[in-house]
Amino acid sequence: MTYDSDNIFARILRGEIPCTRVYENEYALAFEDINPLAPVHVLVIPKAAYVSHADFAARASDAEIAGFTRAVGEVAKIRGLDETGYRTVANHGADARQDVLHYHVHVLGGHNLGVMITAR
Ligand code: 5GP
Repeated sequence: MTYDSDNIFARILRGEIPCTRVYENEYALAFEDINPLAPVHVLVIPKAAYVSHADFAARASDAEIAGFTRAVGEVAKIRGLDETGYRTVANHGADARQDVLHYHVHVLGGHNLGVMITAR
């Protein structure tokens, strides 16, 4: 998978498309998913260009990985999910139906999410 700098999240990072910001640090931006699948559905993206989890894990610096991981934790705290629970999801590639080719983690919560479901 190659990185397309015109993908929708790259455009959000450049401020070309608006988003509802939840949290931001040096390495990550978190914003509301436009099509929420749970009462809380926030996307956390790295500020630099990575296609997917595999790309991020392989190429990101330790500081970026730490900053990004902490941003996911902060989002859960800010949205009050620490006590009730939440799920993080990162889709990579075709089998996971990754739509947007800029690495992102979904933070889902706010009600009972049920068991993890995969199509058979
Ligand atoms: P994926 O399937 O790639 O893991 O998830 C992409 C997510 O991005 C989807 O949940 C979708 O609703 C969300 N999304 C797509 N376009 C936009 C947008 O323009 N703004 C926001 N906030 N979310 C978007």
